[in-house]
Amino acid sequence: MSQKILFISAEVTPFAKVGGLADVVGALPPALRKLGSDARILMPKYGVIDEEKFPMQIRGQGIPVQTGQGTHYVDVWEAKLPGTDTPVYLIGNDKFFGGSRIYYDASAFVSQFVEFERFLFFGLASIAVLESLQWKPDIIHCHDWHTGLIPALLKEEKPRIATVFTIHNLGNQGKWNAPDIFKFIGMKPQDRASLGTTDAQGNFNCLLQGVVNADAVNTVSPSYAKEILTPEYGEGLDVLLQQQGERLRGIVNGIDTDRFDPSRDPSLTEHYSAEKIANKTKAKTALQKECGLEQDASIPLFSFIGRLTDQKGMDLVGESVDQLLQQGGQLVLLGSGMDELEKIATRAAAQHPGRVYAKIGFDAALANRIYAGSDFFLMPSKYEPCGLGQLIAMRYGAVPIVRATGGLKDTVPDYTIDSSGGRGFAFSPYAAKDLQEAITRAYALYRDRDEFTQLQKRIMSIDFSWKQSARQYLDLYSQARQEQRP
Ligand code: ADP
Repeated sequence: MSQKILFISAEVTPFAKVGGLADVVGALPPALRKLGSDARILMPKYGVIDEEKFPMQIRGQGIPVQTGQGTHYVDVWEAKLPGTDTPVYLIGNDKFFGGSRIYYDASAFVSQFVEFERFLFFGLASIAVLESLQWKPDIIHCHDWHTGLIPALLKEEKPRIATVFTIHNLGNQGKWNAPDIFKFIGMKPQDRASLGTTDAQGNFNCLLQGVVNADAVNTVSPSYAKEILTPEYGEGLDVLLQQQGERLRGIVNGIDTDRFDPSRDPSLTEHYSAEKIANKTKAKTALQKECGLEQDASIPLFSFIGRLTDQKGMDLVGESVDQLLQQGGQLVLLGSGMDELEKIATRAAAQHPGRVYAKIGFDAALANRIYAGSDFFLMPSKYEPCGLGQLIAMRYGAVPIVRATGGLKDTVPDYTIDSSGGRGFAFSPYAAKDLQEAITRAYALYRDRDEFTQLQKRIMSIDFSWKQSARQYLDLYSQARQEQRP
């Protein structure tokens, strides 16, 4: 019997994307469908979603959602995930989901109560609209703090639907004082025993709610699943996560290999593959032209793409620009987020015209052209639950330079240590000098054209699709159905 799985998420590629969460939820459901499951998606119908690009039909209107502030009404729309037969349901309500943004802060970190209102409402509305879908899931798969309340709320449903909660980023937990939360959702802690759980600081913690109430819980790489049990990476939840024992699993992310495919990516003007790798140089000179850099295919091109938060290591990149340029290369930076980190990027570009290019903002098509045009991709993260940037980079033949942490450690073995299995350059202490040392090793490889091309071809040929990991999620769903939490 095919399992019916409903993904509930704040982000879904290509409708609304800020980071890797969107890519996961936009790619895992179709992969599960290929394995015979009936996976579908539920998300907010944000004001930013372009309805001309994504045609949708109304499925339900005026569905009441009770909150502590009275009753609000939502509509439900249905679209298809582009290029697939995966149904996507979108919940519409102008007050909570209208407006021109997904999150209130470009770095995706929550800092204002309106953001809680948006996603607490999303949780309440998700349950209210289940009836109108005329399709009852066996499993509800929730993602990150935005959906953390849902497993607790679903415990009252009869028959009970099994729940899975995935931690994509422990750095963003959705914490706030409990009275404001309970006032908004119109409940008291004693209404549902499980809602009484608070974190060590006594905050109502949406992510923790998901962890303790879901029937199964995982994060997005085996290494990160271990790291978060330590004070260094546990973000204050290490002890509570240790208490989850065997329940907490690590399943590494894949990527949508149809969407990210340099041989037919519509954002590229020059296409190439591992077999026709020579054409990658054309993608590089096209990028150099687009970014106003000196057009010379022999110059090694480094890049960085990511949300500009403390997590992603932009400070280390900033401290390493001079060293990187001294060895002859070019640097392309794309990202948005914290002011001071945006300034590091724009300052580097202003100081080194023709050699450093920086774009502040979110631009998915430019991101793909950067992956295609790069020889090396920098990802010196302080912590990294899985990381998709390095996987996409490898798919496009850009050799990753990463800090050996979390999913980066699991997916990028170091080439200096193991030239037959290595996929990039890894360093460990979070320090600019260690990143610089890895950059120097990358330059040394670049000078040996044959060896460098061999590595590029090898990383482009690795199967980063969701096939393997989708099977592991099917196991997790079975486990959730067998071991329902009281
Ligand atoms: P995270 O989920 O922490 O943001 P990941 O590496 O898992 O990091 O995923 C980031 C995804 O978002 C990748 O697909 C990356 O290419 C994309 N991305 C990040 N910043 C930008 C940007 N400014 N413009 C376009 N794409 C971006």
